[in-house]
Amino acid sequence: MFAPSDRGMIGRTSLKYTPAWVRNNIDPKREHQEFTLDWWTDTAIFNYDALLVSAFYGMDIWDFREFYNIPTKDFTFIADSGGFQLWSQNVKIDPIEVLRWMEHNADIGMTLDVPPLIPGSMKSFEDFEMYKKYSDKSKKNYELMHRSRRSDDLEILKVIHGASPRELQYFYDNVAHLDFDGYAFSPKPAREEQIALTISFAKHIGAKKVHIFLGTGMSTLPVIIYGKRFFERLTYDSASFSLQGAKFRSYVLPFKPSSAIDFGKNYTGTLDRLPCNCPVCQISTVDIFNIDKHTTTAKLSESLPGGLIALHNLYVWLSYMDFLEALSSSYEHYIQFLRVQGFQDAIAAIEMMRKVEEIGYEDVIAETAASKGTDARTIFE
Ligand SMILES: [Zn+2]
Repeated sequence: MFAPSDRGMIGRTSLKYTPAWVRNNIDPKREHQEFTLDWWTDTAIFNYDALLVSAFYGMDIWDFREFYNIPTKDFTFIADSGGFQLWSQNVKIDPIEVLRWMEHNADIGMTLDVPPLIPGSMKSFEDFEMYKKYSDKSKKNYELMHRSRRSDDLEILKVIHGASPRELQYFYDNVAHLDFDGYAFSPKPAREEQIALTISFAKHIGAKKVHIFLGTGMSTLPVIIYGKRFFERLTYDSASFSLQGAKFRSYVLPFKPSSAIDFGKNYTGTLDRLPCNCPVCQISTVDIFNIDKHTTTAKLSESLPGGLIALHNLYVWLSYMDFLEALSSSYEHYIQFLRVQGFQDAIAAIEMMRKVEEIGYEDVIAETAASKGTDARTIFE
């Protein structure tokens, strides 16, 4: 059994990585049920105790948790509200419907946000008035959800957006009158310094339970993992392992998960055996991952290799996370590792968070702005 989050407890802080679920990995209609691969049931190839599903994708199955045999004990099921999909796919979602689905299925849910980003891009509005307008749209959803809550069992995190101290503070103040159970942040762009700003702000407002959306990458993960010491609980999620694996047959390399081999139809390599001894690769072969080169059975080629490669990718990322988590308890070893990897931006971000611990958020922002010759309120915008 592989359960890094159990070993991730350090003092009063804990970190739980919550792999995101995407449609490509599991077929909600169960057409490909024989090749449904998971990491939460007794028959799984390996076990991990957390899952994040966006309500946008999960809501068409009311008994989602039961349907997928997701454990109700010793397991964390996080539901995202679907705000990101609402924005990126321009669809309407009813906040009350989302709330009821989360209450019925999840342990942790999120308020339904309207991301203050320019439609069609991942960029913030340059006009602060537009930013305010979008923040107000989120506030309306949050107010509706706040007064409609029926269950005390579902923990709800308040989603806060913002790329600069000014934006974060505005969004935070705008919804401060609504008392939820914690906070969720979506640093954009998901770069090291942006993540460090977000984590520092969360510490500044006294957040205890925090989630960071889609904050995983070889060099950004060390920043998030370092930040866990500021909170009672810090969770984050990733969908890339699944998307890459299921859709593109992209098999991440064990010692360097930012690089990958693309299996499938266009594979031209001559690998004799898989360069990994994870539980998935122990029962797989190069031929299985290239099955669509050898078969015309669409069902098989669509679901089996994609699912297996996604699970291998997940295992590799969990191993990397566990490695970082162990190393991060020694600042010296941690920084040495990051230096050898060439992750200078991660080191700078971690140093910024250490300074926040020493002299406080506001002084660090003022100092950083002074050194860059910019306004402290709009720095990083
Ligand atoms: Zn493997």
